[in-house]
Amino acid sequence: MSATEYDALTALIVVDMQNDFGHPDGSLFVEGGNQLVEPINDEIAAAAQGSAVIVVTQDWHPATTPHFIDDGGVWPTHCVAGTWGAELIDGLDPASRASAVIRKGTKGEDGYSAFSMREPGSDIDIPTGLAGLLRERCIERVVVCGIATDVCVSATALSAAKAGFNTTVLWDSTRPVYADNATTARVLGEFADASVTVVGAPA
Ligand SMILES: [Zn+2]
Repeated sequence: MSATEYDALTALIVVDMQNDFGHPDGSLFVEGGNQLVEPINDEIAAAAQGSAVIVVTQDWHPATTPHFIDDGGVWPTHCVAGTWGAELIDGLDPASRASAVIRKGTKGEDGYSAFSMREPGSDIDIPTGLAGLLRERCIERVVVCGIATDVCVSATALSAAKAGFNTTVLWDSTRPVYADNATTARVLGEFADASVTVVGAPA
């Protein structure tokens, strides 16, 4: 059963359900990421049923990028374009249901939000084109799930809200890199400040 309602004015954004984040053998495995396949498939089915727009995102990096520790960044190498790690997790009701697949970081940018990318070390946002695509489809409401709650899910939800979409995060269909209370409180605080609705928020 899905956690929310879908209609033609809603877009479901499935964030980074890729092997490197969601498979126990992935290079940046997020604890519990593999448990999201079933609940997210339920959301995808409900979204399709409700004629919602479905967007799937993939982190999609070159082999070397200042986003990675080896090249001065903060993350272990992950989601290199065309590798197993970058593929969607097996069993995820796929990309073929999606109206759009957004690949983030393809030219070496940091790509946290589905809506914008950023050159490492710069503060200039580069739009991915997603906001325009959603506006063309007359989307008013955005629902976000996937990996990771405190990184790309949060960045995507905050950008959606900033772009003027009524935004909902399905908390139980996300998993965080950092599961500590302080991180959870920070993320929930940012959502509250941005008027992002959280379904299933921890009390
Ligand atoms: Zn990345």
